[in-house]
Amino acid sequence: MTLTSPDDWRTSIGQILVAVDTDAGVTGYGVGGGGFAGIHVVRTVLRDLLLGKDPAHVESLWQEMFDSTLAFGQKGLVLMAISGVDLALWDLRGRVENTSVSKLLGGAKQNRLPTYITVWDNDAMDDVAASPHQGFKLHLGGQLPEEDGSTEMFADRVADQLQRARAAIGPDRELMADAWMKWNLEETQAVIARVSDLNLSWLEEPLPVHDEAGYAELVEKSPVPIAGGEHEYTSTGFRNLAERRLHTVLQPDVCWLGGMTELIRVYRIAAEFGLRVCPHRGAELWSLPAIAALDHGPAELLAESGRPWMSWVVGQPSIENGFVEVPDRPGFGVEIDEASITAYPTPSYDEWRKCQIE
Ligand SMILES: [Mg+2]
Repeated sequence: MTLTSPDDWRTSIGQILVAVDTDAGVTGYGVGGGGFAGIHVVRTVLRDLLLGKDPAHVESLWQEMFDSTLAFGQKGLVLMAISGVDLALWDLRGRVENTSVSKLLGGAKQNRLPTYITVWDNDAMDDVAASPHQGFKLHLGGQLPEEDGSTEMFADRVADQLQRARAAIGPDRELMADAWMKWNLEETQAVIARVSDLNLSWLEEPLPVHDEAGYAELVEKSPVPIAGGEHEYTSTGFRNLAERRLHTVLQPDVCWLGGMTELIRVYRIAAEFGLRVCPHRGAELWSLPAIAALDHGPAELLAESGRPWMSWVVGQPSIENGFVEVPDRPGFGVEIDEASITAYPTPSYDEWRKCQIE
């Protein structure tokens, strides 16, 4: 038996679609993560917990979901599963009240958000620079020191790439870099020493996520803002990042950290500590209402370009001329082509067990 879940940019595990039906005949949709493991959590724990409850009480339901999975959850794919349910409940809340999630959050301060694009092929920077995005982020996760090379040689090479990127996009648009947790403290500091005049908006996840001592030292000394959080979960995790000054730019992923309920709390924490928030994949429609309604600065709003969108989710606004529109339709403004979902059947429990045995 071959089991699969809808293809996604994170193909090794897959995203999940959660639908919450009510007895009033309204359905809310959300997308989370965790592939079939995430679906298993939804089906065996979260669904039973929600059946018969008033879906309007989203925050207390979130707490019940978190508490009921605490023994094996708290982070990772369980929170990715909870994220999908929570987003479905927020979508449902909007549909029931016939209003958009951005209005539920207090109303969009801007109806169009400037976007930044992540550039995976650094050699393509000159071509990409012609696009009208407000910011450009070089993905440097593949840039590692050569085995027989020095830290200085490595840092020179990275700095050269960033200098060329700055020259390509000009002085006014934002430039960022993402090391995807691949460098150590010494390498990171060597790079920063060479690029402090490039006006980088941030350096993202230079160190492994658990190197809290390294991040604390880095943030204290670095003239370049240090970003991270796409691999952090729950507002509790983000409060730790803020209180211990481990990051200066927070990048929660609403489909992973615990859904909209937790993203709202992250915005409150960021306001309390004066930190910038730039949600991971922020130009995807699940984050747009929060960016538009909740951001308090201190920097410009910026929505990260999304990943290739799932064909069964309709309603994602496209990026045009460096801006993405915040949907004003009920809920998140998402439409689901349910006919196409049947192309990806989830296994019954018996099928699942049979698969595990074979
Ligand atoms: Mg990243």
